[in-house]
Amino acid sequence: MFGIRLPRFYPVFSWIQIEVTTKCNASCVYCPHYLCRSSWIKRDISFEIMKFIEPALPTTDLVYLQGWGEPLLYPDLWKMIEFLKKRNVRIGLTSNGTLITREIARRLVEAGVDIIAFSLAGTDETNDLIRKGTTLSAVKRGIGLINEEKKKQGTPLPRVHLAYLLLKSHFDQLNGLPSLLNELSLQEVVVSPLTLSLSPELDKEVCFIEELPEHKLIFLKELKRKITAQKLCDNMVIHLVSKDITELCTEKIEWSMTISSDGHIHSCVLSMVPVKTKLFYYHLHAQCEMIPNEFGHFQDDTLKNIWYNKSYRSFRKRHLKENFGELSCSRCYKRRMVTI
Ligand code: SF4
Repeated sequence: MFGIRLPRFYPVFSWIQIEVTTKCNASCVYCPHYLCRSSWIKRDISFEIMKFIEPALPTTDLVYLQGWGEPLLYPDLWKMIEFLKKRNVRIGLTSNGTLITREIARRLVEAGVDIIAFSLAGTDETNDLIRKGTTLSAVKRGIGLINEEKKKQGTPLPRVHLAYLLLKSHFDQLNGLPSLLNELSLQEVVVSPLTLSLSPELDKEVCFIEELPEHKLIFLKELKRKITAQKLCDNMVIHLVSKDITELCTEKIEWSMTISSDGHIHSCVLSMVPVKTKLFYYHLHAQCEMIPNEFGHFQDDTLKNIWYNKSYRSFRKRHLKENFGELSCSRCYKRRMVTI
């Protein structure tokens, strides 16, 4: 064995996430796109990124076309979906629902998209106040159109997911979730707390399990039990933030890669907010500067070489440790997530 260098195999990915665009037609009050609007960089990813990820596709389970923008605004979206589908890769995306017309629904189903997630932050018109520029009714209509098309085309895909943002001051909105799910027909619900707070006020909206009164914790468990028992979806997950650090972040960085719309390789979307200025955020009520986790650019090397380069390898190794020093992972709520 001595002196023999073992070949580095292609990494196996649970997912590769690609930020196809940073443009968005909504102004959700908690989103960096809205809060950093004066320094926001609007851009679309180059289609060339497909050549970069192509060698990794046979060992990739899912390509998720999502970053800090609305993917349906990406001009090459259909071309990209076609490219990926020809290579038998599962595809997912998250939409705010506003752009789903009958024609778009037809194309998404026909193209074989595997997952489409819709974002909400409330179960009545409260959602529309938080997610300005979007409406609950647009999401309902979008889900309805996708489901009609699935029926028409005789396919179970795409699976429809709900990405529900739980804000502390709107906790009671969850009361309306069972009847909303009863109205919609979807497969998965993920309730998550805010994980990137760009102001002290927003940081107060983070739902910590330690601060949740006992009756609210019981309510969450009962909500999940009820939704599951009534088969209102196939799978439901509820996340809260803990004050204790957990071993790994929810981004599974050992098994995933994220590419920003300017072509840089990152560990996750949190460290790639497209702004011209420095980005400050709040963690446990303290202000922190966001330090990007960036490991190379797709035009400078192959995916395999970037994955195995010294800084990316060292990052993955250090990620297991509690204190990251300079990197923002030390102060990231995604390392403090607990599942109910
Ligand atoms: S800990 Fe946070 S910043 Fe670090 S990789 Fe995970 S999600 Fe990204």
